[in-house]
Amino acid sequence: MTCPICKDARHQTIWTKGRFSQRLTNVVCLNCGLVFVDPPVSLPADFYHEDYRRQYVGQAVLSPDIAVRRQRDAERRWRYLADRLPHLLPSRGLEIGCSSGHFLRVLTDHGWQSFGIDPDRSYTEYGRSHLGLTNLTTGLFTGAEFENEQFGLVAMFHTLEHIPDPVLLLNHVHRRLVNGGILFLEVPDVERPYFGDFDFFFQAAHPFSFSPSSLGNLLLMTGFELIRIDHHQNFMLALARKVSAGQAPVADPKIARDLLRRLKWWRIGYWVLFRWAKAIKRLGARNRL
Ligand SMILES: [Zn+2]
Repeated sequence: MTCPICKDARHQTIWTKGRFSQRLTNVVCLNCGLVFVDPPVSLPADFYHEDYRRQYVGQAVLSPDIAVRRQRDAERRWRYLADRLPHLLPSRGLEIGCSSGHFLRVLTDHGWQSFGIDPDRSYTEYGRSHLGLTNLTTGLFTGAEFENEQFGLVAMFHTLEHIPDPVLLLNHVHRRLVNGGILFLEVPDVERPYFGDFDFFFQAAHPFSFSPSSLGNLLLMTGFELIRIDHHQNFMLALARKVSAGQAPVADPKIARDLLRRLKWWRIGYWVLFRWAKAIKRLGARNRL
């Protein structure tokens, strides 16, 4: 498969397994440094209606402790946005992959008119019944929704890495933003792959694993100007502004080389940690005899 961003055919395999012991090959494009699953894995059409959360969160409905965590995440993301862009005035905000809508609730409380879409039936129902959100749509964003509408902000948290065609999705987002409108993203960072636990980091639900450079490249080619990238734990937070047209992606073999080197060190670190944990466990067992 050629690279979905730069169309180059040269790539190198990084890892051949994923979460839940799935056979899954992640490769890095040697031209632009994008990490993607090759060959692509197709998920059942209704996977995100219920199965995804059952498999990855352990339950299909939103429990009170998960709701508390979602509320905390929403407030953290709002603080990040308000601190970094203090002059952003409330207008219309859209969240694609909005889950239960906790961020949209916070947005609404700060004077925004909020809209959201998510395929998960029980989570969107929760947002409508518990959070009083009236503009939550249940369904996958296909590109036809909100077609003639304009927003000052589009947010996507842990959504972009799930999308089979992120270029197409960002083209849709671009059309729905007003000029100068803000795109707010949060995605895992392949440069911080859960302390080197690649079997857990890579998963069939993530056709892409972005790094700051590959995310920047994707934004550049879809007509966004990157404002900044920051981190929260292993996750990347990115703010970008809509500009007129996209540009050609940056091709630099050094990006892939640096990433491969970094991943090698993560893997060595993980292996050492794993050996230590095993040795301590063995010592503990011996002391109990
Ligand atoms: Zn590429």
